[in-house]
Amino acid sequence: MCTSSPRSRRDGWPRAWVRGGRCSSAATAAWWWAPRFRNWWSVPTPWTRTAGCSGSRRPWLPRSRCGRRKRAPCCAYGSERSGSAARGRTGFRSYRRRGGSREAGDGGRGELGSGVLGSAGPPAAGRAEPRQLPALRRVAGGGVLAVIERVRAAVATERLRTELRTFPLPEVGPDEGLLRVEACGLCGTDWEYYTRQRGAHLGPMILGHEIVGTILAVGEEARRRWKVAPGDRVAVEEFLPCGECAFCRTGRPALCDATDSRSTRPFLRYGATPVEVAPALWGGFSEVLYLHPRALVHRVPDGLSPDLATLFVPLSNGIRWVRRDGGLRPRSTVVVIGPGAHGLGCVAAAVEAGAAQVFALGRERSPRLEAAQALGAVPLEADREDVVGAVRDATQGRMADLVVDLAPSGAEGLATTLALAGKGAVVLFAATKHGQLAADAFSEPIVRKGLVVKGVRGRDFEAVDEALAVLASGRLPLQRLRTHRFGLDEVDQALRVQGEKVDPSAIHVAVVP
Ligand SMILES: [Zn+2]
Ligand SMILES: [Zn+2]
Repeated sequence: MCTSSPRSRRDGWPRAWVRGGRCSSAATAAWWWAPRFRNWWSVPTPWTRTAGCSGSRRPWLPRSRCGRRKRAPCCAYGSERSGSAARGRTGFRSYRRRGGSREAGDGGRGELGSGVLGSAGPPAAGRAEPRQLPALRRVAGGGVLAVIERVRAAVATERLRTELRTFPLPEVGPDEGLLRVEACGLCGTDWEYYTRQRGAHLGPMILGHEIVGTILAVGEEARRRWKVAPGDRVAVEEFLPCGECAFCRTGRPALCDATDSRSTRPFLRYGATPVEVAPALWGGFSEVLYLHPRALVHRVPDGLSPDLATLFVPLSNGIRWVRRDGGLRPRSTVVVIGPGAHGLGCVAAAVEAGAAQVFALGRERSPRLEAAQALGAVPLEADREDVVGAVRDATQGRMADLVVDLAPSGAEGLATTLALAGKGAVVLFAATKHGQLAADAFSEPIVRKGLVVKGVRGRDFEAVDEALAVLASGRLPLQRLRTHRFGLDEVDQALRVQGEKVDPSAIHVAVVP
């Protein structure tokens, strides 16, 4: 991350860092010197590549003064090199500042999706025949493709409020892409951002991070890395990890500082990055998602519908937690506390892994508990029955080998969680607890039973592919989890159904832009 430039420190979102962690000394020099030369040569800000030469070792110079230009063309005009490759040398962002807003500053170089009818909109001022990427929209009833010039997205502007805004379609470089979002699931984190319990300091942002769509445009490098072509249906994880730290190298991208939403440092993450950060399209509640070079992209198996595929997040988290973090062995007994979408993902993962008995614990009889039962779990109602006694009877006193606690309850719920665990069991916490916890009530059963207690977050790359395969196989009735669908203009309603829990029939809610 670039911390050396005064500009970076001032606005907190350094362009060099936004480009993916590259910060060359040339870029740093440019940040420092360009504002000072601007009036002298009438050179715009340094990230306007049409004026400065980004291929030069002295990128703050205008093209006419660029020594490198005499040897090889390296500027945007008449360039034979790719613009993004040139950007890569300097760490520049190619967005043109105009009247306080940013617009795409160079022509798209990615490959267009099929069905494009033509160039959308007039060329940007000062550009020689820019190639813009049109987005596609299916017209209701006719299956006709129409070109849209601007992207509609639901932006969470303040507490409990989103508004529809339009953004220019970004261009793509060789290592980037664009996704036409087909469906985006909602999860508890969206509600926390929507109510500003989290991320209040970040400003307006496009929420939504359980994203499935088709590739609209993709650069050559990105195409090779992601193994996708325009038109392919893919699932995109929310993480944009650095790929180099210890967590990334050991398959725990959720803990990477570059994408950790609980980090105090600036981070990039889908559904949690403000629209202020170019090119703004960082969330799934949008017609188009910008695919950053560090995006984690998975092919969706043929025949799997996009809204069912959005369940890849709760299911892959369940696979990671139950199998990898929980070390579940066949013929084990599993208790899942809190039968929301993620709890049901854990139930499905445990059933798929061959657990002998799976219990799903909820407060009362509900469509969620019924869905858990349909997946193969024994439903337990905490308000009506002695759940610890029921598990003791079913296991002849051995209790559970694995307990996954996803309920945001306080001390009382914690005591039940630990009571359900047998000797040597693994106890996983996937939700934070509130209220005062008595230290002895917490530590006594852990020590006495020799429990392994872990906190779990996120997933690994392989778990997503496994989840998509399970969804496509149709082995489990996971379609029961798909309960509510909303349009892009109904995002507020969707978030309230998901977060306020007033509709007991809601299990997994999705927005279909
Ligand atoms: Zn989530
Ligand atoms: Zn990392």
